[in-house]
Amino acid sequence: MASRKPIVAGNWKMNGSVELITTMAETLKSASNNNIDVLIFPPFPLLSKALEAGITAGSQTVSHENAGAFTGEVDAKLVSELGCKYTLVGHSERRSIYGESNDDVAAKFEKAQQHNLMPILCVGESEAQREQGLTESVVSEQINAVINKLGVAALVNSVIAYEPVWAIGTGKTASPEQAQQVHKFIRNEIAALDAVVAQNIALLYGGSVNDQNSELLFAQADIDGGLIGGASLKPDAFINICNSAQRNA
Ligand code: PEP
Repeated sequence: MASRKPIVAGNWKMNGSVELITTMAETLKSASNNNIDVLIFPPFPLLSKALEAGITAGSQTVSHENAGAFTGEVDAKLVSELGCKYTLVGHSERRSIYGESNDDVAAKFEKAQQHNLMPILCVGESEAQREQGLTESVVSEQINAVINKLGVAALVNSVIAYEPVWAIGTGKTASPEQAQQVHKFIRNEIAALDAVVAQNIALLYGGSVNDQNSELLFAQADIDGGLIGGASLKPDAFINICNSAQRNA
């Protein structure tokens, strides 16, 4: 039997404020979410504030390098020392805006785990790739970059977020069936290498999730929660999304 605990993770991107940390912390405390894990990925300057406010917080990316002369980069070791347990790696904006390749993402995944951070590996196809029928091959290549470098066992301490690029920040959500189809594909691909790892890994859906569509998405057999962008900046909507994950736990 699988022992997957739902996760609802908020990716604030380059948004948010000290004030929003306080409001979000109060909102999260007022709701009981014992059966799910709720995480926030605020911008780096807000990480300490979030942790101090009792929020389980993580970084939006980490460097694949160790500490050194890398101005502007963020050391996974420091993120871990601060008290974070998670980091995103390979978010589509990191891939498309900052040119991170599958190999770069795999290197960041490795660095995160070396410092006891659980990487949430973001994968997903563009609209053009979906139209060309390349969804499965793109997603598979993105995941295999990690498996080929580190072995399938590395997925034990990780989470995968399927985020179709065409659904991120666009208001165009994948239908629950479309999302489930890709999640099932991902789980089957991993199961072909290791059935236990596949059963236990949490697979999150991301892409314009809101409190109107989260319930049906989270009800799908292979969707174990969500990675939420825009709606995670609205405490009331975010808590509703958390509650729908709780109902599906
Ligand atoms: C994201 O940034 O990972 C995301 C899914 O954004 P949104 O929910 O706004 O589409």
